[in-house]
Amino acid sequence: MIPILAAAAIAGAGGSAPFHPDASMERAGVPDAYKWRLDALFADDAAFERGLADVAAKQAKLAAFEKSLARPAKLRECLDLYFETRLALNRATLYGNLRLAVDQKSARAQALSERSLKALADFMAAAGFIRREVLRLPDEAVRKAYRAEPKLAAYRTYLDELRRRRAHVLGDEAERVLSLAGDNLWAEVDLNEIPADPEKFSKALLADLPLPDLRDEAGKPVRLTLSNYGVYRASPDRRVRREAVEGLFGTLRRFEHASAAALAGQVDFTLFLAKSRGYGKAIEAYLGKDDIDPAVYTNLVRTVRAHLAPLHRYVALRKRIMGLPDVRLYDLYPPVVPAPKMSMPYDEAVRTVTAALAPLGEEYLTALRRGLDPASGWLDLYPHRDKESGAFCSYVFGVHPFVKMNWFGEYEDLSTLAHEYGHAMHSHLSAARQPYVTSAYVPFIAEIASTFNEKMLNDHLLAQTQDPQRRLQLLNRRVDSVRTTIYRQTLFAEFELAVHTAAEAGTPLTAELLEKTYRDLVAAYYGPDYVLGPDDGMEWSYIPHLYYKFYVFSYATGLSSGIALAERVRTQGAAARDAYLGMLSGGQSRPPLELLRGAGVDLARPDAIEAALRLFDDTLGEMEKLLAAPAGKK
Ligand SMILES: [Zn+2]
Repeated sequence: MIPILAAAAIAGAGGSAPFHPDASMERAGVPDAYKWRLDALFADDAAFERGLADVAAKQAKLAAFEKSLARPAKLRECLDLYFETRLALNRATLYGNLRLAVDQKSARAQALSERSLKALADFMAAAGFIRREVLRLPDEAVRKAYRAEPKLAAYRTYLDELRRRRAHVLGDEAERVLSLAGDNLWAEVDLNEIPADPEKFSKALLADLPLPDLRDEAGKPVRLTLSNYGVYRASPDRRVRREAVEGLFGTLRRFEHASAAALAGQVDFTLFLAKSRGYGKAIEAYLGKDDIDPAVYTNLVRTVRAHLAPLHRYVALRKRIMGLPDVRLYDLYPPVVPAPKMSMPYDEAVRTVTAALAPLGEEYLTALRRGLDPASGWLDLYPHRDKESGAFCSYVFGVHPFVKMNWFGEYEDLSTLAHEYGHAMHSHLSAARQPYVTSAYVPFIAEIASTFNEKMLNDHLLAQTQDPQRRLQLLNRRVDSVRTTIYRQTLFAEFELAVHTAAEAGTPLTAELLEKTYRDLVAAYYGPDYVLGPDDGMEWSYIPHLYYKFYVFSYATGLSSGIALAERVRTQGAAARDAYLGMLSGGQSRPPLELLRGAGVDLARPDAIEAALRLFDDTLGEMEKLLAAPAGKK
């Protein structure tokens, strides 16, 4: 809970009494004006039940189309029903998830969520015949079908996208076996929400990890957990953060063979699915799923590798500012420039975010202002008991985005608000311009709109202040976001690629190999002022993203693109802005790399990544100057 200061008072909707966020309060204690409105999805739980029953009825009807899709009219009718049912299910799963997000311990909310997800999985399995039959059609038959049934034009992008990977589809028997084995290469839902057994094992292992106690800043013993680890790792007290890192890594070391077996199992499974579909390499199968050229991945790794010098400079700067004898892994997380607590009222945050995004023009701003207004029902603003921590944005076509926040008024909250409304506006614009079939953008480009907004906010706040201390804090945020999102995620991506390449060459993924691979990367990335700890090479084993099947690199390409696009919009005016809005409105109407090129970023080239790393380097220079100036000293 934040201290209640007069300035921290947050004005209630419509000028009623101020409201003070308090994470231990019941949901009922938060004014309804600050909660999202789920009645836009279903009036109540009973309506949700009727929705699911309706889906089941539609699904039964869908089965009647099996073995008839060679007939163009049948194909069109079947796709009408398929998308209508899928949309109804999207609505139901969203309702279940949102109910659960603000009522974590409720068995009822859990049941709603689980049932909707189960219904979605059942539906996807039941609709599998559509893909099989569409892919069996010869090209000529498809061309004829478009001519014979003009209404099929609505599904052309979808069908063409489906048929793009036709060469990687096997016969019915083999397809049936692959789907029973848990094939995810054709999943039409987020890949990373379907864990395979090795990932479940790794999660269970981490949950059971017997972590030791550490002594906090006051010398009091506290049990280290994976959820408080991040806090203690960033402690201003070096002893505390050392105990946190050594406590976790030392424990991970004791389970290194189990962790290695889990990751090796995951990699084997990924390779099995890719190979059985005739791909030469796993990366081709998984990036190909969203039509992304693997050259984008290798280009990222190569470019970051060629620009490690600024990261080495950052480590040296940290050593100097913090007055450390050497820099260890546990010295990378405490803020180099301590920032005072902030308690920005929500209405001020709205003014700040909209002012920062003003260069995006009136149409964007009008929709943004509406969505930020709690009266829109988009937003669930305040923390309370049994509300899931963190923030997210979810969306279903034909309704509106839903944004979950845990607002306390800190800088992070402001930045998160800008980030989540980047996602919200991306979804909103794609849905406004695209039909349902092509409205959902692929995960690869999701983190562009959000990081674009963060960059615009940071620039805006920097332009507002000449106070050296305040500028230092803001510059430090910028530097840390590039370090953790571009450098660190690329390190993970490089590890992931090395591990798959080793497995593809028949090298066993032993604990020793994994540790050495990771340790060598850490040493190369952080450079000469960094001193390796004895267990630094164990860090990989608690990173869940390494199970995400070539996903982690997209954080780094996302932020690089977000930064490049924000720079373009800021310096090149209306044409750059319209090109960017064109990407946000594009959904899945074109391949992701093409949409991005249309906005002005080509990820097959090093430019955007180099520019982001140059910005990192320049920002370090600016920080050094401020620190050297007498006014910059406290
Ligand atoms: Zn995000």
